[in-house]
Amino acid sequence: MDKQWTSIFLEEIEDFKNTINTFDKGEIERKSYKGISGGLGSYAQRDPSRHMLRLRLPGGRLTLERLKFLAEIIEREQIGRIKLTTCETIQLHDLSVVQVPEIMEEAIGCEIYTKGGGGDNPRNVMASPLSGVQAGEAFDVIPWAEAVTRYLLSICRDIHMPRKLKIAFCNGVDDCVHSAFRDMGFLAQPDGTFALRIAGGLGAVNPSMGVLVEEHVKPQDILYYVQAMVDVFCAHGNYENRAKARTRFLQDTLGCDGLREAFLKQVESLRAAGDLELSGFEKAEITKQTDDNLIEHVRAIPQKQPGLYAVKYHPIGGLLPVEKPRQLYELLKDMEGAEIRVAPDESLYIINLNSYEAKKILAATDDGAQTEFEHSVACIGAATCQQGVRDSQGVLRSIVKAVREAGISDGALPKICISGCPSSCAAHQAGSIGFQGGVKKVDKASCPAFKMTLGGSDRLGEARFGDGSVTILEQDMPALMVELGKAAQASGQRWEQWSKSHAKERDDIITKYI
Ligand code: SF4
Repeated sequence: MDKQWTSIFLEEIEDFKNTINTFDKGEIERKSYKGISGGLGSYAQRDPSRHMLRLRLPGGRLTLERLKFLAEIIEREQIGRIKLTTCETIQLHDLSVVQVPEIMEEAIGCEIYTKGGGGDNPRNVMASPLSGVQAGEAFDVIPWAEAVTRYLLSICRDIHMPRKLKIAFCNGVDDCVHSAFRDMGFLAQPDGTFALRIAGGLGAVNPSMGVLVEEHVKPQDILYYVQAMVDVFCAHGNYENRAKARTRFLQDTLGCDGLREAFLKQVESLRAAGDLELSGFEKAEITKQTDDNLIEHVRAIPQKQPGLYAVKYHPIGGLLPVEKPRQLYELLKDMEGAEIRVAPDESLYIINLNSYEAKKILAATDDGAQTEFEHSVACIGAATCQQGVRDSQGVLRSIVKAVREAGISDGALPKICISGCPSSCAAHQAGSIGFQGGVKKVDKASCPAFKMTLGGSDRLGEARFGDGSVTILEQDMPALMVELGKAAQASGQRWEQWSKSHAKERDDIITKYI
């Protein structure tokens, strides 16, 4: 960002020091503080003396410089908890009132801008985590995600949207970034253009797939579309009722055809003014020494560049061990072109490794998920999040422990998605098995429980939300998952196959726990 933008941001951080101190003294109420702090990417946790700071990483890019910053800040500030998020950001937890603005300020040095990381702002712009290196992709979408980030940051002080705006770029291989149901989802096409869906989104009310508005958007024109979305949202969004303020409700108020028409009309009027066109991006191809050694490992993914690999690492629950950034930095600093991508399933991909380097990284990351089930996604949960209802991390830990003790084989259970409340941060609606934190009445008492959905998918071209909403007591969830896993394992089938071919057996098991 330019000097003027940055100096205004520094002034905002300076003002924020007073705000966070005033909140700490109890002189600002939680809700008002949340409105201010979210605009700079921070929220108070459930314990109001502890704070979270969200590091925006456009396209999920944790470059070497950013990784070094992260390692240094964790060591110096003795940060005890780091969370990889489903929006490809990294959250630092349990910070003091002094640490939050200090880290915001320092992060600018490696082009991490926490501005707009929360609140009613354009959020971190996501991109397929293997963009630029993935075999079969239409094209590398990261430069476009970064260009949109720069644009949105440049206008974010001048706009007042009803709620947040989430934008994702998919490279056309898989849709783990959920372009099918974001406020704006750009899907790369083989002809070098984007198909664009708008006004999709998750949440307790009306989770909705996006409306297809254009099939061939030229990449150079994307800012016209982004600005048009902001304009339409500001013109037609609901400023009265926050529960109905996300763009997906425009599908109801304007109708899908009306929304498409209003949006495209605004695109054309912006295009007539004609000052938002981007130029193309030159990207240097990576050239580094490779060899013919083949690596056959479930976590080593051959890149489209011959001889190079991406290594996947998924810390359970997306909780990155605090020593890991330093360990990875010390290894990667001598590996030409290597960088890390934060993925929406709370994994890291370490990319651009030759076979020798990939072996080293595999060894350094062998403490992560070992099975498909252990790649499950869980939000930070109510023990930390002031908005939460249930402790999704605690539940995931107890299920993982039970499944390991029962010796359930890899593949018998799917990756599950656990959100601690209807805000749906773990995108549970798109999980094969999804859980949403809530309560269940037992003998007139409210007991911790989760709503369960089945059959969701975020596969490219097959996106759908899970069905059913039975409610399972939290205490029963480990036993339920073990029983389902044992049944699938006994059949010799993987979960997807068993869940279809043995639907009655599956439902009978679930019914026992309702
Ligand atoms: S889903 Fe709810 S509990 Fe989980 S992080 Fe989001 S707001 Fe917090």
